This record gives sequence, C-alpha cells and structure tokens, in this order.
Amino acid sequence: MRIALFGDIHANLEALNAVLEDAGNQGATDYVCLGDVVGYNADPAACLEKIREMACPTVKGNHDEDASGSHSLETMNPVAAAALEWTRQQLDDNQRDWLRRLRMVRQVEDFTVVHSTLDQPSNWNYVTNRFDAMANFSYQFTQVGFHGHTHVPRVYIKAERVQEVAADSVVIEEGCKYFINIGSVGQPRDGDWRASYVIYDTQNQLVSFRRLTYDIETTQQKILDAGLPEMLAERLADGR
Ligand code: ZN
Repeated sequence: MRIALFGDIHANLEALNAVLEDAGNQGATDYVCLGDVVGYNADPAACLEKIREMACPTVKGNHDEDASGSHSLETMNPVAAAALEWTRQQLDDNQRDWLRRLRMVRQVEDFTVVHSTLDQPSNWNYVTNRFDAMANFSYQFTQVGFHGHTHVPRVYIKAERVQEVAADSVVIEEGCKYFINIGSVGQPRDGDWRASYVIYDTQNQLVSFRRLTYDIETTQQKILDAGLPEMLAERLADGR
C-alpha cells in the first residue's frame, strides 16, 4: 500500500487540491487525514466536503473542535479566534456535526494517527522536542505513529533513547519506534511555504516527505475577499 497522510489543511483548497493531485500521481492507494480541516483560510466548507467525500480515516484537530462548538473563543489568539468565528458561520449544522464526530485517535492498518500527541490528545499539547516525543511514546503502542499540529514536519525515533531528526525520507527499522510529524498542507510554519504531506509505502517500509507549490495568490485573495485578518494571507507566503 502507498498511503498518503495529510493534515492541517486549514481551509486552504488550492493547497489541498495540489496535494491530492500529487498523491494520485505518486500512486497513493489510500488516504488518511490528520485533522484541522478548517480554520485560518477561506474555504472551510469546500475542504470539508472534499475530505468527507473521500471517506478516509480522519482524526479531529483543535480547530475542528473549536469550529464545531459554540464555546467562547476569548482565551484564544485573536487572529485564530476571528477566523474560527467566521468559520462557524460558513459551515452548516450537518458539516459542524461531521467535525464534532471525528475521533481523537485512530489506528489504521498497523499504525496510529493523532492530531497532537497520544499523551492526553484532547489537551492539544505541542510536540516540539524529544522530551515531548518521549511522553507520546509512553502511549504509542504501535511501531509507527503520525501526527501534525505544529505545522513543522519532523521525525522522532525511539531506539535506546529518543532522537529528533530532520524531515527526510525515513526507513522504518526493526527495534525502533517512530512518531512522525507530517507538516501542514494549508499553513506550513517551517519557513517553507509549500504544502507538506507524506507517503507511507508499507511494502518498502519507507515514509517520504513531499513539498508542493500551489496557487498561493488565489488563496491569499480569497482570505482578503472574505474579510479575514490580512496577516493570515501574509503568513502563507512566509511559511510561518
Ligand atoms: Zn493546525
């Protein structure tokens, strides 16, 4: 199997389309979505419908939770909160219900997927270093786990000790455990604006990171036309 894992789409339809087209060209046989389908950018309903139609295993992200709830967003970063208020209005009851029903953690084949970390997934903690990854590994009962949430692609490997390595192709080896951050489709934050996702080739036990350009000008214009904070359009080009 060649499984395309993608997440943190954040309502960026142009980036999502680029990723799905590339995955098709790469011979992907299966798809898994790591959550944060909505939030920040201007196409929440279109992205949600596309992923719902694909009917692929999908886990819930914090923006999916916030967009489908009615709780106050006051304590949140004001730019993210403004986008979520707007997103709530763009989705109908049925779409919000679909987001609400997403599960926090799923096992697919013989690997685990979660938006943030397996260590208390509903607290939405960020895994940004090997100590955070160690906490995750205590709750990861499969050899391979995939996550997102930080929007920074990264690989954590647990052998004798846990080490952090750059997001490059990684071969899954006996005796090691892996927690792999697939990066973000719709709002990368590692200084590279291109959409990020991975392909897991289960036969060759190889995880390959992919980066793709897309029509970012259209995405930015839609953000401005929707009256969303300008900063959301600017940050896309910076990859921050
Ligand atoms: Zn996100």
